[in-house]
Amino acid sequence: MAKIHRLTPQQPRMFCAYVLRTERVSPSMHRVTVTGPELGDFPWQGYDHWFRLFLQLPHQHSLRLPEFTGARWWQPYLAIPETERPHCANYTVAGFRPGAAEMDIDFVVHRGPDGEVEGGAAIWACRARRGDALAVLDQGVLFDCPPDASEVVIVADETGLPATTGILRSLPRGSVGRLIQEVPTAGDRRALDVPPGIAVTWVVRDNASVAGSAALAELLRLTSVDAAGYAFVVGESTLAAEGRRHLHRLGLPKERITFSGFWRHETSQAA
Ligand SMILES: Cc1cc2nc3c(=O)[nH]c(=O)nc-3n(C[C@H](O)[C@H](O)[C@H](O)COP(=O)(O)OP(=O)(O)OC[C@H]3O[C@@H](n4cnc5c(N)ncnc54)[C@H](O)[C@@H]3O)c2cc1C
Repeated sequence: MAKIHRLTPQQPRMFCAYVLRTERVSPSMHRVTVTGPELGDFPWQGYDHWFRLFLQLPHQHSLRLPEFTGARWWQPYLAIPETERPHCANYTVAGFRPGAAEMDIDFVVHRGPDGEVEGGAAIWACRARRGDALAVLDQGVLFDCPPDASEVVIVADETGLPATTGILRSLPRGSVGRLIQEVPTAGDRRALDVPPGIAVTWVVRDNASVAGSAALAELLRLTSVDAAGYAFVVGESTLAAEGRRHLHRLGLPKERITFSGFWRHETSQAA
């Protein structure tokens, strides 16, 4: 496959922005489009470029951001008194238009046992109004396909859908492999810009299952992979951990697998 050039920022930069518009793009995905004078300079690299998102909570009067130099933002963040500390969560660039300084962020609308939207970021997104302040801290790209990879296997639950969408859009057109993409409902499937050599399998999980379990079941049906390939497995922590284990069992070296638990279900036992 053709070489992929990426950069991970040594000194991540913070970009202040505000909400421009919102849209429910599918039953489980709420898109918030943000903009701001600084945002046109965001060094977008395509693929699964991700960032830390800082949000003002409902009881807070303003968005107070950690002041940091170098790469260490976590300690300055924790040093902010709890009542003033913004909510922080990890998200992926779903779309970026540098000329207009616009970034799309796709939030999974996840719900608790009573059916109410839960999670600081998901609730914020569903209530977001034009002008609401936020900030994004650039974190670079996780996707790390070696230039000599013979095939790409990508597996994700819905939190990884913005990442898989970006990866497929960014991959060299001659790439071969497969995507296993889980979504909560059939209506969450979307049109993807896919290289012709990548086979796409959508897995719609049934209501009772934990997110990630349907994609994992589909992945476990795979009985062979090319040891010279590369895999990217993200989503609920069990999917990420068990998915990696299975691919390694099939012969894919660990250094050719990127896996990341994007979130953890409360009953998840995986490390
Ligand atoms: C690199 C990276 C990129 C990511 N990109 C995206 C993205 O583009 N879009 C996206 O939606 N998510 C993405 N995620 C996942 C997202 O960061 C988590 O889902 C996060 O927990 C959401 O924050 P929150 O404030 O809404 O919920 P939290 O306050 O973190 O959690 C509250 C409760 O909700 C549960 N929960 C969290 N997420 C989910 C979920 N998806 N489904 C069911 N229950 C959940 C938690 O277990 C917890 O019980 C990404 C994660 C990483 C590491």
